[in-house]
Amino acid sequence: MNPIVEEIRQAYAAVGITLDQPAAYGTYYRLLCAGCGRMIGNVGDRLLPGMAAELVERQRDLYAAGLLGCACGHQKARGASAPKASRS
Ligand SMILES: [Zn+2]
Repeated sequence: MNPIVEEIRQAYAAVGITLDQPAAYGTYYRLLCAGCGRMIGNVGDRLLPGMAAELVERQRDLYAAGLLGCACGHQKARGASAPKASRS
């Protein structure tokens, strides 16, 4: 397993999103709502180390505000309650 995939998985798990099995057509993974299982997007695994966490961290406010993520509000709930990563 590509280690970057595990990094992506953990980054998205922090905001209540599950990384699904790779799509049949290649290096894209489906993003599933951890609350209800609905598909809410795709992510490619061609990221550099650290990029996945940064990507999700940048979107965290949008998830917390309910502007991104699933209509069921799972990411909103997770985003609002999860502590922000400290940045140096
Ligand atoms: Zn949902």
